[in-house]
This record gives sequence, C-alpha cells and structure tokens, in this order.
Amino acid sequence: MLLLIVLMDTVRKAFVAANWKMNVLPSEALKLAKEIKDLTEFCKSEVLIAPSYTHFSFLTELIDERFQLGAQNVHSSLSGAHTGSISVKMLKDLSVDHVILGHSECRAANNRENEDIPIKINLCLNEGMKLIYCCGEPEEERLASSHFKFVETQLAHDFESIKKWPNDQIIIAYEPIWAIGTGLNATGEEAESMHLFIRNWIAQNYNNTNAEKTRIIYGGSVKAKNASELAGKSNIDGALVGGASLDAVEFSNIVKAWDN
Ligand code: PEP
Repeated sequence: MLLLIVLMDTVRKAFVAANWKMNVLPSEALKLAKEIKDLTEFCKSEVLIAPSYTHFSFLTELIDERFQLGAQNVHSSLSGAHTGSISVKMLKDLSVDHVILGHSECRAANNRENEDIPIKINLCLNEGMKLIYCCGEPEEERLASSHFKFVETQLAHDFESIKKWPNDQIIIAYEPIWAIGTGLNATGEEAESMHLFIRNWIAQNYNNTNAEKTRIIYGGSVKAKNASELAGKSNIDGALVGGASLDAVEFSNIVKAWDN
C-alpha cells in the first residue's frame, strides 16, 4: 500500500545533468561546457556535466557551487590491479565529486555491473562522493505492467546494505530503458507516477524526511520540447540528459524548463 506524502517540492533544488556518454573530443569539451555554463548562468537549477574521464582536467576550472562535474562510472575498488579502470580517489583528486552509478548502458555492457552496484554505492558514499543512481525498467517489464515491481527490486537489491539514507549524497535518476536514446520519452504522467513510487519507497524503507529531501530526476529522451511537461510535475526534480546535452542551446532550454 502506497504512503501518500505531502510534498514540499520547494525545498528540492532542481538538478539537470548532461551525460555526454562517449561523445565530444577533449579538445572540444571546454568550449561546449563553457557555452552550457554561460547559457544557464542565471538559472536556479544545479547543472552537472558528465564527460569522459579524459576531459576532466580541461573542465575543472569551470566548477562552482551551481556547475559541477560528474563521472559516468567508477571502479568498485579504491586502487589496485584493475587495468583500464578509474578509482574514486582519482576522481576526487581532480575535484570531481559526483558519479553516475547503475546507468543501464553500463549494466548492459558489463555482466558484473548489477552485482557491483551495491559495492560501488557503499564505497562512493564512504568516500564522500555524491551519487546519481540510475534505475529503470526495460520495455518488456513496462508492457507487462511489472515496471513498479522491477524498479522496487532494483532499489531493494542495490541499497540493501544502506541503513541510513544519504540525503545529501544521492540523487535518483529514473531512466526507463525503452526511453533512453530512442526518442520515446515517458509522458509526464508515466514519469510522475514512478517518481512518486520511488519517493514512497524511500519513505517506507527509511523515513518521510528522507523521501521529501531526495531529488528524483528523469532520464530518457528529454528534449527542450518535452521538458516543460516533465518539469511541471511535482515529483520530477530535474533531468539526466544524453543526446540533447550535446547541443548547448537545446540543453540550456531543458535546464530553463525547471526554472519556470
Ligand atoms: C542517458 O543516457 O542517461 C539518457 C537519458 O540518454 P538520452 O537523453 O539520449 O535518452
């Protein structure tokens, strides 16, 4: 039975993140990031860019309270014989204090990823990193109307060992897999009902204050043209944007949707 939460959405500052994925060359990154920063300068929302690891050293000069950098993933160990990997400590050394965890593309590309996510969550929280934790159902679960159950199982698995909810260190991104990179976004209604479900899950498993304070953002084919509908919903506190974040004007118009 779902708990009804009295929402205090004004206490949650909007958060809009750009997931550049494996796009943008290091030599192009500063120009694009500066354009985004300038175009969103007067926005109330926090803005984050998650570029490839190779770009961070070019971008850290842009970091301020409103404009942050995040990694697209991180290894589950702090150091050691893990050829080709990047550790939390390396990110922190570059002043990168956000990381996306559980993106469906990472879960799909690495068959250990689902098992590693709880380990990564623990490690990142202990090291003071802020998480953008992704969850969301594949198309077949949505078609079978089992999407709430799927997301609940994902949350229960990934946060099983987290006894105290880390309000200030976590943003949840609801990203239905069928909507990522497909041009098929969830409607405002569909996203809102899942966001409310996730907020109620936090309330039931932790407490109401945690639920009210946690920002839950939506990802999946967000564009300037559908952003206002999503931003108009009281439980959608921002967006995680892939394709549309590669265009500074388009992305800044998405950020502006959460300012209205
Ligand atoms: C994403 O990669 O997190 C994403 C939401 O991509 P897109 O906006 O392209 O659907």
